[in-house]
Amino acid sequence: MDKEIIELYKNSDLPKEGWLQSCFLCKTYTSRTTHITNIESEIMEYNFFCFVCKECKYKFKKNEILYFNFLRDCKIYIHDKYNFLITR
Ligand SMILES: [Zn+2]
Repeated sequence: MDKEIIELYKNSDLPKEGWLQSCFLCKTYTSRTTHITNIESEIMEYNFFCFVCKECKYKFKKNEILYFNFLRDCKIYIHDKYNFLITR
């Protein structure tokens, strides 16, 4: 099965193809991503990653509930926005 990586970030003035994007939480520019979820359609596996800066990753490490809520919000966002990928 083919794989496609989809990266989520806050909109900013940065070029969309660049390796630097805005942190999904605090909008700080970062090159770090974190894996959120995989979604499979009949022909493709989509791997979703989210730009999350160093500070926010550190916050997640200290606070599992915050991390859990973040993952949940991201998954809701993905299912809303990318629902067309999995509609059969
Ligand atoms: Zn951040």
